[in-house]
Amino acid sequence: MTNRRQTVLVIGGGAAGIAAAWQLRRGGMNVTLVDRRSSLGGRLTSHAHEALPTVFDNGPHLFLDSYRQAMQLFRELEIDDCFHFPWPLEVPYAFAAGSAERLTAWLLPSPLNFAAGLLNFKPLWVDARMRTVKAILKLIKGPVDSQSSIQQWLEKRTGEEEVHFFWKPLVSATMNANMADVSVAALREVFRSGFCSPLRGGRMGYCRYPLKDVFHDKVLRKLESAGITVRLNEAVIGAEIERNRIKWVSFQQGGKSCFDHIVAALPPAALRKFAGSFGAGEAIIKSYQLDDWRETAISNLYLWARQRPLLDPVTCTPDGPFDWVFDYGRLWGNAEAPLCLMFGQRSLVDLKKAGVTRDLVLEKLSAAFPTLRCVDWMASRFSQEARAISIKPHNLWGKTLPLKTDLDNLTLAGDWLDPVLPPTVEAGVRVGFKAADKLLYKYERP
Ligand SMILES: Cc1cc2nc3c(=O)[nH]c(=O)nc-3n(C[C@H](O)[C@H](O)[C@H](O)COP(=O)(O)OP(=O)(O)OC[C@H]3O[C@@H](n4cnc5c(N)ncnc54)[C@H](O)[C@@H]3O)c2cc1C
Repeated sequence: MTNRRQTVLVIGGGAAGIAAAWQLRRGGMNVTLVDRRSSLGGRLTSHAHEALPTVFDNGPHLFLDSYRQAMQLFRELEIDDCFHFPWPLEVPYAFAAGSAERLTAWLLPSPLNFAAGLLNFKPLWVDARMRTVKAILKLIKGPVDSQSSIQQWLEKRTGEEEVHFFWKPLVSATMNANMADVSVAALREVFRSGFCSPLRGGRMGYCRYPLKDVFHDKVLRKLESAGITVRLNEAVIGAEIERNRIKWVSFQQGGKSCFDHIVAALPPAALRKFAGSFGAGEAIIKSYQLDDWRETAISNLYLWARQRPLLDPVTCTPDGPFDWVFDYGRLWGNAEAPLCLMFGQRSLVDLKKAGVTRDLVLEKLSAAFPTLRCVDWMASRFSQEARAISIKPHNLWGKTLPLKTDLDNLTLAGDWLDPVLPPTVEAGVRVGFKAADKLLYKYERP
């Protein structure tokens, strides 16, 4: 049997769906990619508003150069030059009282580069620096109990000081989750594959253009030129099952289509909705515990000024109420682009309840960054991605969920299905590739 006769529908045009569609097409299949939104990229997107001077990202994204599968996909899609990975890694810190520091990795092979940088990191007392280095070594070398949350694991080994200045900001930036919500095994994977891989470990980078310019405009052109049919504004809303196979799927705009295979590259809530539309979907809902996954929000405040001093591209602000400040003026090389204050895993409602208003935020911002004191902010926008990150039910920590479902022609993909990585672009791409490889393998066996 040859791949060329096989038709595949990939549902969902986020990182996972793009990776799966690309790999399947390279394997010779006839691929159609659909997304319910008007653009590709899923959570990797940007928004525009007529009252605002420039577009703004759905939320700031950091990329680790050592995330191999995502980088491989970016090279193949010819978007790798859209990313910048400063080297050596340097994390500027700005404190509430207006002082500043830098955590700088030394020019040594990792993890020595971090160990040396941390041992020199002045905001921590010497004993806290030693504890931090010891905890990192234990994390990457020793066994960990995947049933423990990051918080539980750290409580036994670290003090409040280093949690505040080092662990909490690091977890927020690399895992997009609160420390109590994620297994320590995921943090270990971030350190092992992200920070401590020998050559490229610790290169933390960012996209040099609005995410939509890259993951919609450029990627769409590339996918279409490779022969993938991309249909946007096309939500899949139902399916009919015959002899344990999806016989056809139906679309919100009307119409039904038949495909040999379906790859559903959807987050748990969207998959729950799709699976709920056909009888056999109940088994999928049950076995992936789709009713037990939670979704957390990520909120940001974007600020525009006619003229302002530029900051470092990404600054850690551990004293809050925002965790990180991203200067898009620097990231995009566009002086009109906004400053973004990232509040981490909190919804706008949570922020309001905690009394975090725009005025309070501006007061804290001026205190932490004295150069911004006289800036006249001409526009601002609180934004949130309400379904930013899927949080795995505790009883699934350490377990691998199969990508192939019990239905003969339905395979799943999405960042939430990676057995160890937290929900990141790398996890999405890794699972997308794996789902495609599984399907291709089926037809390549002699
Ligand atoms: C604010 C924010 C900050 C983040 N920061 C980082 C970071 O710094 N580094 C990092 O690596 N990751 C980060 N992430 C996570 C990263 O964006 C995701 O892990 C990744 O983009 C997920 O890709 P995905 O394809 O699995 O899912 P998605 O991107 O959610 O794609 C799913 C797609 O399915 C579509 N869809 C849903 N239902 C249907 C339907 N019925 N029919 C058709 N289409 C449908 C949706 O429209 C969507 O496009 C961040 C996420 C957010 C929100």
